Amino acid sequence: MDLETRALELHRRAIVIDGHSDILMPVADGKIRLGQQVRIPDPATWEPPLGMQLDSVSTMFGFSLHTHYFGPMGQYSIPQFLQGGVTVQVCAIYLEDSRLERALERGLEMTWWLLKEVEENDEFELVTTVADIHRIKSEGKVGAILAFEGFEPLGFDLRFLDLFYRLGLRMASLTHSRRNFFADGRQEKVKTGGLTALGQQAVKRMNELGIVIDLGHINQVGFWEVLQLSQAPVVFSHTSPRKYFPLHPEDSPIYPAADLAQGRERLEAIARNGGVVGIIFYGQQDLDDVVADIEYTIEVAGPDHVGLGSDLYGLERAPKGLEDMSRLPALTRRLLERGHSDELILKILGGNYLRVFKQVWGK
Ligand SMILES: [Zn+2]
Repeated sequence: MDLETRALELHRRAIVIDGHSDILMPVADGKIRLGQQVRIPDPATWEPPLGMQLDSVSTMFGFSLHTHYFGPMGQYSIPQFLQGGVTVQVCAIYLEDSRLERALERGLEMTWWLLKEVEENDEFELVTTVADIHRIKSEGKVGAILAFEGFEPLGFDLRFLDLFYRLGLRMASLTHSRRNFFADGRQEKVKTGGLTALGQQAVKRMNELGIVIDLGHINQVGFWEVLQLSQAPVVFSHTSPRKYFPLHPEDSPIYPAADLAQGRERLEAIARNGGVVGIIFYGQQDLDDVVADIEYTIEVAGPDHVGLGSDLYGLERAPKGLEDMSRLPALTRRLLERGHSDELILKILGGNYLRVFKQVWGK
C-alpha cells in the first residue's frame, strides 16, 4: 500500500479532536453559518470597505484589516470538518472587550448559536459525553464541544457555571489575557497574582461538575496554582511549546501570549498531571512547523500528552499546507512520513484528548 493510501486509511479510522477554535464569533455576529463553506477573498488583492478601521483589540493583536474583518471565517465549517475527517471540534466562547458590559448575554447568545447550528444540521451534534464521541464517529458525523476561553460570561457569579454546564459546557479556561474576577491572564508586563478566591472555587467546581480545565493564556502563577488545586487532568488547548509566540508586537504592554516556551518544566508538569497539550496551527510557517511542535512535545512530555489545538484565525497567519480544517489528512500523512507509528498518530489526532475527557467527564 502506498503512503497516501495508508495515511488516508489511518486518518479515516482516527477519532480526530481539535482543541480550540473561535468560529462561534463570526457565527454569533451573523456573518456566516456553519452548514456552508465560505470562500474568503485573497488577502493580497482584497480591498477593505471604505473607511474600515482596526479597533483596539485588532491593533493589540497586530491583525491586518483582512484578519480583523474575516477572522477564522472560511477555515471552519461542517463541510470542511467532514472533508478533513474531524470528529470533534472544540468551539470556544471568547468575549471581546466591547462585549464585557453584557458578558452573560453574549455568552448565552454564542451558546444559543451553537445549539441552533446543531438543530439545523443533521450531521452536526453537541458532544457532552465520551459515548457521544464514539457514536458520532460510527455515524460519520461531526461533534462540537462547548468551551469557555475566559470565565467572563459568568460575571462573578459561579452559580452560572452550573447553568452553562447544563447547556453543554465541557471545557473552560479561567482567563484569556486580561484580568478578571477569577484570575490574572497572561499579560507580558503584568506580573501579578494567580487565582482569586473565586477562581479557586471555580477550579473545585469544574472538578465536581466534570468540566475539563484549560490552562490556555493563564499566567505562570495561576498555571501552578491550578495544577496544584485540580484533582483531575487538565489541557493546554492551543499553544506552541517551542517558541515565544508571535501573537503580536512584543512592545505591547499586554502581550496576550499563549506560549509554553521556555517552559520545559511546565510541559513536564502537564505530563505528570496526565493532561494534554494542544499544538496550535495559527502563526506557524507551514505543516512542518506544526510537526516540529508535536515532536518537541513528545520528546519533553511523552507520547500520551500531545494533541491538536488549531486556533486558525485568518489566512495570513495560517500554516502552508494546513490553511483550513479540510487539510488535516496532510498532517497524518506527514507524521507517517516522519516515521511515527499508527498507534502514536492515533493518540496525537484525538486519542489523548479522549482519555482526558473520559477521566474528567466520567462517561
Ligand atoms: Zn487563545
